[in-house]
Amino acid sequence: MSVGDLIATGPRYFCAQSALVPGGALIFGVPFDGTVSFRPGTRFGPDALRAVSEGLESYSPALDLDMEDFAFADVGNLELPTSATKVVACVEAFVAGVLAHQVKPLMLGGEHSITPGAVRALLRRYPDLAVLQFDAHADLRDGYLDDPYSHASAMRRCLDVLPPERLLQVGIRSGTREEFAEMRAGRRWVAPEAAALREALARLGEAPLYVTVDLDIFDPASLPGTGTPEPGGVDWQTFAKLIAELAGRSLVGVDVVELSPMLDATGCSAVLAAKVVRELLLLMASSA
Ligand code: MN
Ligand code: MN
Repeated sequence: MSVGDLIATGPRYFCAQSALVPGGALIFGVPFDGTVSFRPGTRFGPDALRAVSEGLESYSPALDLDMEDFAFADVGNLELPTSATKVVACVEAFVAGVLAHQVKPLMLGGEHSITPGAVRALLRRYPDLAVLQFDAHADLRDGYLDDPYSHASAMRRCLDVLPPERLLQVGIRSGTREEFAEMRAGRRWVAPEAAALREALARLGEAPLYVTVDLDIFDPASLPGTGTPEPGGVDWQTFAKLIAELAGRSLVGVDVVELSPMLDATGCSAVLAAKVVRELLLLMASSA
């Protein structure tokens, strides 16, 4: 089935149409948590986030943009094979199909292992693509627990195809000594502060950007519903200031991953994730 024939039958993100809108943005879910190393459940992320999205307003005061002014669709979740390698290939093929319709992808995880598939497809379309990772973890392991496509290897697999100077890693506060040495040596590590991000983005010039948000960038107090929580993260205000630095840049793809909704009985983690999606969708839809 081609991307253009997909019609969502299940829950959708609020304000979204049910079939692809040429020239718009497209939300799709990849409910995969097959390589999880600690606490499972991100497979429930996409639908949990959609379910609470109705509670948001379509207008973002921070961005002064309204979702009702942009055409976008949510076609639901991909049907997935079981192995991570095949899931990543499936994501790559799907995103390539999305791009062929002049549509910008916004992928809902699932765990972080799915990101390299989207990056591979986008790199073919945008050879000068740069990737901006928001995360608590470096994700630079070359495979983990025998799986080269582990979520602990998400950025390593991106670097298989992406020149290292075109990756920025924001908010990383957990990793091995080797991972930190590599990030610092390559000037890839970026403090979770607007001024630091501004300076790092300037080094990328006009490169089109893919933004991957691993929700564990947030402090567990703000977002406990994630599989690998790491103390010392950012709050909403800080995150909002970080993404405000993306205004005016060319945003060509986004993913929001690692929401594990059942680990937060209050439901607030899913609400925060839905708000992250709204802000990035607006930034992407309004960008050239
Ligand atoms: Mn992480
Ligand atoms: Mn990650």
